Amino acid sequence: MVFITGGAGFIGSNFVLNWLAQNDEPVINFDKLTYAGNLNNLASVMQDSRHVFVKGDIGDTVQVATLFAKYKPRAVIHFAAESHVDRSIHGPATFVNTNINGTFALLEAARGYWNSLSETERAIFRFLHVSTDEVYGSLGVNDAPFTESSPYAPNSPYSASKAASDHLVRSYGRTYDLPTLTTNSSNNYGAYHFPEKLIPLVIANARAGKPLPIYGDGQQIRDWLYVNDHCAAIRRVLEAGRPGEVYNVGGCNEKTNLDVVCTLCDILDQLDPKQAGSYRDQIIFVEDRPGHDRRYAVDARKIERELGWRPMENFYTGIRKTVQWYLNNEDWVRDVQSGAYLKWIETNYNQY
Ligand code: NAD
Repeated sequence: MVFITGGAGFIGSNFVLNWLAQNDEPVINFDKLTYAGNLNNLASVMQDSRHVFVKGDIGDTVQVATLFAKYKPRAVIHFAAESHVDRSIHGPATFVNTNINGTFALLEAARGYWNSLSETERAIFRFLHVSTDEVYGSLGVNDAPFTESSPYAPNSPYSASKAASDHLVRSYGRTYDLPTLTTNSSNNYGAYHFPEKLIPLVIANARAGKPLPIYGDGQQIRDWLYVNDHCAAIRRVLEAGRPGEVYNVGGCNEKTNLDVVCTLCDILDQLDPKQAGSYRDQIIFVEDRPGHDRRYAVDARKIERELGWRPMENFYTGIRKTVQWYLNNEDWVRDVQSGAYLKWIETNYNQY
């Protein structure tokens, strides 16, 4: 059994669905169900006995320790976080609380649990921390991508809080021998992405006839990773990663934000044409956000060399699948935008 935190969020829910589709090992899905947690993503596995959902906060060491003792997981896969950069600018306290204090509390529970295990159980136990390439800060256009040994230089409260959590995880490996693994991945995209993030926001606004806002000049460069590729990388690191190591996970798809938005408009023009004109006509430029990093890109050769993982999807195939998913799942988008999923959780999942 594996213990997953944040498994109702974007990447976590994709991970749970992929995991259960590929093997029979059960998962405990521990999630606070913040605005970003959506059990609708997991509707197909809510009745599956291999999926045990528990509502709770990673900051609650007692609840987590009780669950560890009850279910005896062989691994913790830690996705839970506050993850939206813009929200971190307006309200950094929640980010410090969940990403730093929450990860600390989870590590404490894991340390206590690990100490209670037999030698054999300890040998297989892993604590896998899912993090971001934003901890490395911003690159110039001609700089080499970040490697696992690049210095940390986070620029937003979000990336600073993730950087702090990475350091705590590292220290628990070095100080207490907890077998930790950390992955730092680039920007994910794919199904079940909350519509406040760039790609789903553009798809939703375009179809609603609303403006498509682009920060500054739109020349900020990000590397884009299809979420299923990220999930496969995490499974591979869990399976064969060396304890104490860090692995960068990248999509080999560096694009400017303007490129991303134009590509989305072009695919929508093909799959869901407007009566007149192109979705590109809705693009507007808005004031840049403070501390906006110019470029992120990771060098993912270590995970390829050591573990044989590389992304399967290129940007155009992945983005096309993603647009198609949003076109096929209009109800999901509508529920999220109206907050209906939060009401559904309140009425259906009070028991957790
Ligand atoms: P998300 O915001 O979609 O989901 C986060 C999940 O964590 C939600 O289900 C939420 O309810 C849960 N959660 C929040 N606070 C919690 C708490 N205190 N206790 C328990 N659960 C809590 O995030 P995401 O985009 O799926 O990202 C998952 C992880 O991957 C994060 O750690 C993030 O930093 C990292 N990451 C994300 C990206 C990306 O592009 N989305 C890229 C690299 C790394």
